[in-house]
Amino acid sequence: TTLGQRELALRERAGQVIPGGMYGHMRVTDFSGAHPQFMVSGNGCRVTDADGREYLDLMCGWGPVVLGHRHPGVTKAILDQLEHGDCLDGTSPVAVDYAELLVDTVPSADWAMFCKNGTDATTTCVTIARAATGKRKVLVAAGAYHGAVPWCSLRGQGVTAEDQTHLIRYEYNDLLSAERAAAEAGDDLAAIIVCPMRHDVRRDQELADPAFAHGLRALADRTGAVLILDDVRCGHRLHLGGSWEPLGVRPDLSAWSKALANGQPLGAVTGIDALRDAVSSVYVTGSFWYAAVPLAAGLATLRELRNGQALPDMLRTGTRLREGLAAQAAAHGYEIRQTGPVQMPVLYFAGDDDLSLGTAWAEAAVRRGVYLHPWHNWFLSAAHTDADIDAILDRTDQAFADLRDTGS
Ligand code: PMP
Repeated sequence: TTLGQRELALRERAGQVIPGGMYGHMRVTDFSGAHPQFMVSGNGCRVTDADGREYLDLMCGWGPVVLGHRHPGVTKAILDQLEHGDCLDGTSPVAVDYAELLVDTVPSADWAMFCKNGTDATTTCVTIARAATGKRKVLVAAGAYHGAVPWCSLRGQGVTAEDQTHLIRYEYNDLLSAERAAAEAGDDLAAIIVCPMRHDVRRDQELADPAFAHGLRALADRTGAVLILDDVRCGHRLHLGGSWEPLGVRPDLSAWSKALANGQPLGAVTGIDALRDAVSSVYVTGSFWYAAVPLAAGLATLRELRNGQALPDMLRTGTRLREGLAAQAAAHGYEIRQTGPVQMPVLYFAGDDDLSLGTAWAEAAVRRGVYLHPWHNWFLSAAHTDADIDAILDRTDQAFADLRDTGS
């Protein structure tokens, strides 16, 4: 095995006290025999595992870390707020500062509210939409991930058919299928929820066809449904105003989380004026939704992003990575597909239907010191420099060579 001694010891102990040794997307045994499950620190675009091995990071905490691990400005905001307290008996004023800045940044946002994670945000959006319309049905793209709770879970275990009775599936980028789903909902249609791009696991990413995005907007307008953009994964990595701003399509509600606070637990819902009353009518809350430290981190992160360098930097370094990987694959005689925005790449090998080749390559990459995933999209951060990308490419080149050496 190539796993370190501490990693193995932690897995052994975890196996005794944490079911399955870990759960959810961080149970690494679900996708790799080589990735460490336990990490002890991060700095910029580097993370260190329990055995002290350092990796160039292409997962960025699976999205949240948009400015780099322990970004100095965000860390200062966290420590400053901690000095004053975190969970207080009333909301910190920083919530108002941050809501103002979000509303100023996101053209479709007339108001903002905060929660803890992406599932809170998508679930709150659906609740608001049902309260606003008095209708029940929600159109959801087949295979789209909006969280791991029963109303939207993609797995059957522990979920009843009744939990999803009011969902009607459509195909991403297929407007006709959405129109059919809306017809099926009849006069009971509350909402259409959609991600800015198709980023389902285990398949190529697909950018939204502009005609599809505009078509969903028109469908919502025609039927009175609320258009919900699930910007949890893409938000604040592609475009600060919302990921469909470049398409000119504005949602009624947006769900945000991952990148908002550079790793602090925070989600947000933003929306249009017409939905203010519905928001006030529903009861949504959580013990930690008002915690001041993540809000302070969110404010500091958005201020930094608004300075303007982070997103263009990620576009540049992401392009450098994509072009480098394409050249390497070709040089080593592999046909690969890289899809999605360069800031959120994913890589598959041609003909690799069972993903065994991609998994072997990802395992080789992690052994060479680059942390990436075989079938979930990766994430760039503003901490990645051109030199870091070149260091990553040195190692991925070795990973392609390793793959060749094993005869794959
Ligand atoms: N929506 C999308 C598009 C996501 O990518 C995720 C998380 N991967 C969620 C919702 C759920 O967010 P969370 O895990 O923070 O609850």
